Amino acid sequence: MRLFLGALTGLALILVACGERQAAVDVTSGSDAAGFLPASDATAQANARLARTLDGLPSEDEALANRGFVASDENLTITDPDGAVIWRPADYGFLAPEPAASVHPGLWRQARLNQIHGLFEVEPGIHQVRGYDLANMSVITGETGWIIIDPLTSVETARAALDLVNRELGDRPVSAVILTHSHIDHFGGIGAVAGPETPIIAPAGFLEAAVSENVMAGIVMGRRAGYMYGTRLPRTQRGHVGSGLGKHPALGTHTIATPTHVIDETGQTLEIDGVRMEFQYAPETEAPAELTVFFPDLRAWCGAELVSRTLHNLYTLRGAEVRDALAWSAAIAEALDRFGPRTSVIFNSHHWPVWGQSESRAFLTAQRDVYKYIHDQTLRLAAQGLGPDEIAETITLPESLAGVFAVQGYYGTLKHNSRAVYQRYFGWFDGVPAHLDPIPRVEAAQRYVEALGGVDAVVMQASHALDAGEYRWSAELAQHAVFAAPREDAAREVLARAYEQLGYAAESAPWRDFYLTGAFELRHGVEALDATAAGSAILQSIPLDMFFAAMATRLDGNRAARRDRVFNFVFADVGETHVIRLSNGVMHHQQAEAVADADASVTLTRAFWLRLLQQEVGLMEMIGSDQFAITGDRLALLGFFAMLEQPQPDFAIVTP
Ligand SMILES: [Zn+2]
Repeated sequence: MRLFLGALTGLALILVACGERQAAVDVTSGSDAAGFLPASDATAQANARLARTLDGLPSEDEALANRGFVASDENLTITDPDGAVIWRPADYGFLAPEPAASVHPGLWRQARLNQIHGLFEVEPGIHQVRGYDLANMSVITGETGWIIIDPLTSVETARAALDLVNRELGDRPVSAVILTHSHIDHFGGIGAVAGPETPIIAPAGFLEAAVSENVMAGIVMGRRAGYMYGTRLPRTQRGHVGSGLGKHPALGTHTIATPTHVIDETGQTLEIDGVRMEFQYAPETEAPAELTVFFPDLRAWCGAELVSRTLHNLYTLRGAEVRDALAWSAAIAEALDRFGPRTSVIFNSHHWPVWGQSESRAFLTAQRDVYKYIHDQTLRLAAQGLGPDEIAETITLPESLAGVFAVQGYYGTLKHNSRAVYQRYFGWFDGVPAHLDPIPRVEAAQRYVEALGGVDAVVMQASHALDAGEYRWSAELAQHAVFAAPREDAAREVLARAYEQLGYAAESAPWRDFYLTGAFELRHGVEALDATAAGSAILQSIPLDMFFAAMATRLDGNRAARRDRVFNFVFADVGETHVIRLSNGVMHHQQAEAVADADASVTLTRAFWLRLLQQEVGLMEMIGSDQFAITGDRLALLGFFAMLEQPQPDFAIVTP
């Protein structure tokens, strides 16, 4: 029996492991082993023009990204318990000094900087392990041990990073861990660095935020994250080159822990292992729960992911609630005011540090301004009557920000961030009545194709647009053709080629990976994904309430509407009873006393429940188990389980 496990699998899907990604170039046809063609002349020329512009801009970043280098592991290869490679910088060995024609030169430059890996001294008393995972692990020297900030995505990478620290700087215990925010690349490896007694400092709301996003909407986010991070793409100059923030999340064993010290107010201070810390509580910025930390004795500020050396996302393409540009900008402004005058160095959870007081001030000023600029200009243009597409097309950075590398769109983009601001204020509707109740995309495609003279005619027009270097228009036409006639090889190939060139020209790594994954799936199909949940350690931390909330989103409402029911779920081991009520096709749940006249009552353990969720036990085993007892109307309960729909973790995106 397949229950409602799907609710949880976003975690797994975001972190789906991939096999070999290296692809050789097939010189005879021009396509590489993954089917990717070379950059077109138009793309190559556009990228070359941009490369010349970049050459004109001063950049010390390469020196800064290497500054303070202590050591690294040559031929670093990190594997998961099954022996699968989860981290191997050599996969990106193709990132030569000269940019490839098939990569935006700014993104190429960023990808080269993200490729630098090892242990670095930021200042005496502050080190960072960079390039051992998507994020950085920072290490503060206490009187007796290390204070670790952000222990990476996986136990395996965090262990490798801590081993490097102990090997190079001398063996010491971990005296505390700071989790700056609720994204998994900053806490998933905590199992490797913290013991049961280790103090764990995190922002208020950390645990809830860390698990909730993945539980409720995980299936869709997981599928889209596969696109955003180019999970299936080869690591080549025609494939995935990095994510703009770093390389990619390391897909190993993920853990989580309950904070022992909660930061819920700016100005809160702590002294641990002789290290004084001053916190800023910055919720609803880059993450729902986030903090930054200032070290007054070191004159150093850790900005977490509030600031990084890229424009970040007001909206993330995997799908998530739109972030608040004003709150984000205001938090940076607060940090600038509060810590700026005392700050000589800024080190963050991604990318290399910023040294110098005036450099720090300039860095924070640009970061503060760019998010508010996008916010304000989007609303200014909207007030002129522009819709979201037109705003995205119109908005540009002012000259003073346009030349700042740290606010370029390697991760977030000006275009999609302006759409995010529009969405936050106005929602999905742009006010045009024809857009109020549009014909769904496949039917619309069929009608467009018919109106344009059939699939062959549309494919021909899309090909002409492709030849003319009009890739967005070609993609628009060809996507209609593919939705209308998905079995037409010519339609799929033209669309793949348009997506390919759009990917090669994209400055943003998530845009590149979205386009190239679209092309990849058009040529190779969708990979079947198993709905298995990742990180049982994370599952253990999810409140039972949240499972039931997710379960409600799997209920087939029309089928359930005819059967109003009440069920008790009694978790004997944790002493919680949850009452489920079906009414009008809606499932309500409440932690409450068991209802006496329920249709059925289930008594089970939390552990057994998790095994059910992970599909480790089948129907017969469930009924026969001594950890699972049903009283009352057994058929009513099984009928309820049968109305929970299994989600499709590998749903189609570029085909109908
Ligand atoms: Zn991060």
